[in-house]
Amino acid sequence: MNTIKEYKCPCCNGAIAFDSEIQKLKCPYCDTEFEIETLMSYDEDLKKDGSDSLEWELEGGREWHEGETEGMRVYSCKSCGGEIICDETAAATKCPYCGNPVVFMGQFKGDLRPDYVIPFKLDKKAAIEALKKHFKGKKLLPKVFSSEAHLDELKGIYVPFWLFDAQTESNIRYKGTQVRFWSDSKYNYTQTNHFSLIRGGLLDFERVPVDGSTKMADDLMESLEPYCFDDAVDFQTAYLAGYFADRYDISSGQSIARANERIKRSVADEFMRTTAGFSGIHIENSSVRLGKNSAKYALYPVWLLSTSWKDKNYIFAMNGQTGKLVGDLPMDRSAYRKWLFGIAGSVGIAVFLILTLLWFL
Ligand SMILES: [Zn+2]
Ligand SMILES: [Zn+2]
Repeated sequence: MNTIKEYKCPCCNGAIAFDSEIQKLKCPYCDTEFEIETLMSYDEDLKKDGSDSLEWELEGGREWHEGETEGMRVYSCKSCGGEIICDETAAATKCPYCGNPVVFMGQFKGDLRPDYVIPFKLDKKAAIEALKKHFKGKKLLPKVFSSEAHLDELKGIYVPFWLFDAQTESNIRYKGTQVRFWSDSKYNYTQTNHFSLIRGGLLDFERVPVDGSTKMADDLMESLEPYCFDDAVDFQTAYLAGYFADRYDISSGQSIARANERIKRSVADEFMRTTAGFSGIHIENSSVRLGKNSAKYALYPVWLLSTSWKDKNYIFAMNGQTGKLVGDLPMDRSAYRKWLFGIAGSVGIAVFLILTLLWFL
C-alpha cells in the first residue's frame, strides 16, 4: 500500500489514508472520500499537464518602396516625447496628444511600412459636429473646450497597431464542484462532489490588436474599439494626405506579451463556457500552444483633440471609422457654484445628485 500513501487529497492537499470501514480512501483532514480508480486517473491527468508555448514568427510591416517616404516629415514633441509623421503639405505645429508645440525633426526615414490602413470614414466636419453635440447642454463645461477656434484644432491621427493572427491548441484543467443539500428530522446534510474538468480544443484568432504607441493610452484606445477590418485596404502613402500618423514606439516584438495575454484570456473564457452546471470553477493548469501565426502592421483612424485646462490635459478621441466617442470633461466649479446658488437645500441635493449622475453618463 506504499504507493497509495503518496496520494494527496485534491481538495485540501492533505495526505490520504485508506479507511477500512468504508473500504475507500479518505482524507482525514477534510473527510472527502475517494475511489482508488478515481484518484489514480486524477493522478494520470496531472502528469499530462503542459505549459504554454507562445512563440511568434513575426513578420509584421514591410520595407518602404524607393522614394515613397520622400514627402514625409517627422515632428517631435519635447513635452511628451510623441513623434508624428505627416506629409510636407500638412505642417504640424502642436502635439495632438498634449497640445504643446512640436519641432520639425526632418525627413521621415526608417521604421516599417504598414501592411494595411483603415481610411478615415468621418471627415473633420463630421467629427466637429459630433463633438459639438457631445458638448451641447453641458452648461458647466469651461468655454475653452467649446470655442470654435479650439475645435478647429481637432486632428486626424493614424494610430499604429500590430495585429496578431494565430491558430491555437489548448488544454485547460479546471476544478469545480457540485453541491447538494438535504435534511432529515435530525440533520441538515451538505454533499460536495469535486470534479476535475478537462477541456481541450483548437481556436483560431484573427487580428488580435495591440496598439504600437505609448502616447496613445491603452485604456483610451481600447475604449475606441472595435474597428471593423472589412474597410481595411493595402497601405498607400496617399491615405496620409491631410492626416497625421503616430510613429510607433512599441515594436511588434514588444507587443507580444499583451497579445498573448489577450489570447490566453479569450481561450480560458471560451472553454469556461463549457463548464455550466459546476460551481467554484477555477483553472488548475492551462497550456496554450501557438500553431501557425503571423503579425501585421496597420494604421487605424482616430480624431483627437487635447485641451489643457487648469494644468490638466483632457483628451477627446473619436473612432474615425465608427464615430464612437471617448473622453472625460471637467466641470467648471465656479460656474457650478453660481448655478447652484439660490436653490433650496433639499432640492439642491436632488439636483446635485441628478447632475452628478448625468455628468457620468
Ligand atoms: Zn482533504
Ligand atoms: Zn506632446
